[in-house]
Amino acid sequence: MNRIRVAIQKSGRLSEKSLDLLQRCGLRFARSKDKLYWYGKDFPIDLLLVRDDDIPRLLLDGVCDLGIVGENIAEEAMLENTADNNLEQLRKLPFGGCRLSLAVPENSGFQSVADLDGCRIATSYPALTRSILTSKGISAETVKFSGSVEIAPGLGTADAISDLVSTGTTLRANHLVEFEVLFQSTAALYGQLEQLPVEKQNMIDRLLSRLDGVLLAAESKYVMLHAPRDAVDTITRLLPGAENPSLMNLEGDPGRVALHAVCRETVFWEHLEALKGAGASAILVLPVEKMLG
Ligand code: ATP
Ligand code: ZN
Repeated sequence: MNRIRVAIQKSGRLSEKSLDLLQRCGLRFARSKDKLYWYGKDFPIDLLLVRDDDIPRLLLDGVCDLGIVGENIAEEAMLENTADNNLEQLRKLPFGGCRLSLAVPENSGFQSVADLDGCRIATSYPALTRSILTSKGISAETVKFSGSVEIAPGLGTADAISDLVSTGTTLRANHLVEFEVLFQSTAALYGQLEQLPVEKQNMIDRLLSRLDGVLLAAESKYVMLHAPRDAVDTITRLLPGAENPSLMNLEGDPGRVALHAVCRETVFWEHLEALKGAGASAILVLPVEKMLG
């Protein structure tokens, strides 16, 4: 069976974006009735929809070849299973950003992280939390919670928590204050280090190359503008991540040219203002849908 199996989150913060990313790589799936296994239509790449926590195990056991999961989950799994930490991060992905932070009750009196030495910390990420605290010279006892970590201090089961934060609203609602960021996380594509049959490896390489194209295109813009002929060098240098622009003559205006370039970095308003300042006019910034090579 030389089909590739990709595990993604069934329902949650990463599900829609993971699926969207794979679809933008040209993959299409026939959804099965039970909705857990989607068969790849044009490519031998199938989807398995699961809880995000199960993804590292599915990779480590060789049930799936690829998986999209938060770095927080993957790191925790690798620290837990040091005997077989065979997960390989293939690409970091531009979604699912969050941070694992220590939070303490308002008015707790804690001044610095060092004050947490010997304290009890409630968390869903005990291995990751302990490992980071140990590297800071702090030894704390972790109390494992699978959800609703933020209620632990109020219940008296912990002095502090280590939990995922993106906006901090949940912390404030529970009278906790963010104390220190322990780990920055995004979603990532993981594989396992086992040697795969050549056909499978080729398929994965092809998917990775498309994925790189999709990720690059998402950031890139196609810029078109008119420029004084003698300002072309200056203007090219002002374009973020652009090389070798195309120049075209403007009919009836020998002093000016049309310049087209692909910018491989984010184009901000400041860039456009600087271009205008250098004499550019008729500036257009267009999205790039796909990119290869
Ligand atoms: P499942 O049912 O699959 O176990 P879950 O409740 O564990 O789902 P979600 O809340 O959907 O998971 O979060 C999935 C991932 O999204 C997290 O592991 C983390 O990497 C990322 N994430 C981004 N922002 C946040 C946030 N504010 N809180 C929690 N996770 C976040
Ligand atoms: Zn989960």
